[in-house]
Amino acid sequence: MARVYNFSAGPAVLPEEVLKEAAEEMLDYRGTGMSVMEMSHRSKAYDTIIKEAEADLRELMNIPDNYKVLFLQGGASQQFAMIPMNLMKNKVADYIVTGQWAKKAYQEACIYGKANKIASSEDQTFSYIPDCSDLPISEDADYVYICENNTIYGTKFKTLPNTKGKTLVSDVSSCFLSEPVDVTKYGVIYGGVQKNIGPAGVVIVIIREDLITEDVLPGTPTMLKYKIHADNDSLYNTPPAYGIYICGKVFKWIKRQGGLEAMKAHNEKKAAILYDFLDQSKLFKGTVRKEDRSLMNVPFVTGDEELDAKFVKEAKAAGFENLKGHRSVGGMRASIYNAMPIEGVEKLVEFMRKFEEENA
Ligand SMILES: *Cc1c(COP(=O)(O)O)cnc(C)c1O
Repeated sequence: MARVYNFSAGPAVLPEEVLKEAAEEMLDYRGTGMSVMEMSHRSKAYDTIIKEAEADLRELMNIPDNYKVLFLQGGASQQFAMIPMNLMKNKVADYIVTGQWAKKAYQEACIYGKANKIASSEDQTFSYIPDCSDLPISEDADYVYICENNTIYGTKFKTLPNTKGKTLVSDVSSCFLSEPVDVTKYGVIYGGVQKNIGPAGVVIVIIREDLITEDVLPGTPTMLKYKIHADNDSLYNTPPAYGIYICGKVFKWIKRQGGLEAMKAHNEKKAAILYDFLDQSKLFKGTVRKEDRSLMNVPFVTGDEELDAKFVKEAKAAGFENLKGHRSVGGMRASIYNAMPIEGVEKLVEFMRKFEEENA
């Protein structure tokens, strides 16, 4: 068995320990004689799994009691609709568009009400985060929306926007659990788990209780109401049971690493190895404004498309997978989520250095 260094943006690398534990429990989960995949979501064993997952996430993120944690399906993209359907009481929301995902969320919100694009970095291919200290927030905005870490472009909000008292909604798909967060600053924090937490098929929504009401847009399907899932502890219908089980294992793994402070230190150290190399390289260049750089997704280019393609091909042959940049940006992107070991980044930089010498 040979595992590669997987730099995929998502679905992405998971901790090897977690995969091994899951493998050991595959045929007989702790004496139940069955796999978690085969188990009723109403069983005692599963109840413990989902409750522990929630408790561990609450502990890791220090989630206050007046926030609900929901384990849902439909990916992050379904939240693009669920958020306006549930939160647009005045039918007005402000969107900060810092990449493809924020843009898609904005476009979806336009279906349901008046979505205002109050800031954007599209003028420079989303390579920076706009100044959000004094934006024209709408008087009657139901919320202000951001995508906190831009997976495709490799930018991250280092300070949250000044929402002038309005509820902040944040897509954290690609920076979930990568560092500590102050949950009280948000109305909703949500993310698909396949970037930094678990297998595709689960989206986690952390939502302040006062935002969960029956007062949703007319025609909102039952399955898309936060209230139905909150009232039923994420068990209104069959949840993505196996995925939640893996997320639970990843939460425990993060706790063993020392929690989110430790995760942040680890991620900063890892990212610095790659960024420091890029900053002195004569061949490779980072594509993002320095102060807005993501710790999770690192896009870079040589400036020559053929050379980029050659690099991706040779890197793959050397055991570094999924380094091709997103089709909308080109070049390369290394996603270095929580579970990417530091050796993975060190070896990648070693490989890049060698490639640079050979192609000078
Ligand atoms: C991947 C991603 C999405 C889309 O996730 P799906 O689960 O495929 O819908 C949305 N937002 C961000 C920031 C992402 O990285």
